[in-house]
Amino acid sequence: MPDHTPTSPILPPAMLGILGGGQLGSMFATAAKTMGYGVTVLDPDANAPAARFADRHLCAAFDDAAALADMANTCAAITTEFENVNANSMIWLAQHTFVSPRGECVAIAQDRIREKTFFRDAGLPTAPFLALEKPSDLDADVSAYLPGILKTARLGYDGKGQVRVKTRDELVTAWHDLKQQACVLEKMMPLKTEVSAIVTRGVDGNTAVFPVAENHHYQGILDVSIVPANVTQDVATRAAAAAKTVASSLGYVGVLAIEFFVLADDSLVVNEMAPRPHNSGHYTLDATTVSQFQQQVRAMCGLTPGDASLLKPVAMVNLLGDVWPGAGTADCVEPDWSAMQQEPAGFLHLYGKKEARVARKMGHYNLLGDDANTVARRAGQLRDQLLASAGRARPVE
Ligand code: ATP
Ligand code: MG
Repeated sequence: MPDHTPTSPILPPAMLGILGGGQLGSMFATAAKTMGYGVTVLDPDANAPAARFADRHLCAAFDDAAALADMANTCAAITTEFENVNANSMIWLAQHTFVSPRGECVAIAQDRIREKTFFRDAGLPTAPFLALEKPSDLDADVSAYLPGILKTARLGYDGKGQVRVKTRDELVTAWHDLKQQACVLEKMMPLKTEVSAIVTRGVDGNTAVFPVAENHHYQGILDVSIVPANVTQDVATRAAAAAKTVASSLGYVGVLAIEFFVLADDSLVVNEMAPRPHNSGHYTLDATTVSQFQQQVRAMCGLTPGDASLLKPVAMVNLLGDVWPGAGTADCVEPDWSAMQQEPAGFLHLYGKKEARVARKMGHYNLLGDDANTVARRAGQLRDQLLASAGRARPVE
């Protein structure tokens, strides 16, 4: 296969392509346009948010041969906004132009069995797991994995495709309900907290890791990221080192996010990776020298990774459709953003999705300040006010 790795930097006004036109595609397109590049988005949705910021929107399926050929002919480099894109499309594109990350890396990340096996082989601890691919796999002694979480090997996100199981009987039922598709059974770990490390690796092999984020989830969806994380320097250093190890051993070019569990003794367990900018890295839009989207542009253009250092402590809160009064109904109205907008160091990011639905990611809010925990509390209060106005206040814990 021909190698299209750039031998000299791809410079503006070259055209860059992205598979997927959701919020990540939007933020990528904005970064690329600001840096002087053209952007082509491939997305079958006529209302794809990223089309607003792109020069061209190819409204076609991700495996549409004509659209892929068009991109191969017109884009100097191509990336993706999500791992559930057809990895074969990326592998095909790579025969014609530079693709970052490689489709082979995406294929590993989109299959939990391959992903966890890869981590284990790279010497990084994972939660104990058992691959369930065929009925006889359940003949094994599963006690070492219980209580556990049964996760579909493919197409899971935001906690979808996951069932918590305490006993063997519950496991059998849960797998049956999932139609015995390929799954991993993973032991439930006692989490002290969760962190993520986002690494950028360039064509030149140089890496830059953004400050490690501490992540809190609510109902299976990322809720708040706090940076710097409330972990020791040693934990943060080990997470960053593990992210570099993964990127290097994959020969990865681009932005790669790794999620970790932090256990009571401060040991780290790798949970999963995302071969792209990540929700827990949205704080980089306002709080670091370069953002994760600028890093993706840099990496795919053969530029060395930019400066990933933190300018100021920050908290990011996700804004789900839940904050829209009447979400999912014909009576849906816009939340009152005035309090968030009036914060001198607050940055509201709205994704421009047409319909607000409960649990749908609609935007996020970054709040900067001198102390990350203080701004996390403040940003949480501002979000809670919106939830209360929408009649969806969270139960007090
Ligand atoms: P996302 O795409 O939002 O990252 P996902 O659907 O891929 O989520 P995971 O990251 O595997 O799912 O799990 C979501 C959350 O569930 C984790 O961040 C963690 O809070 C919890 N969780 C998952 N696996 C375990 C485990 N083995 N032990 C304890 N908690 C877990
Ligand atoms: Mg996850």
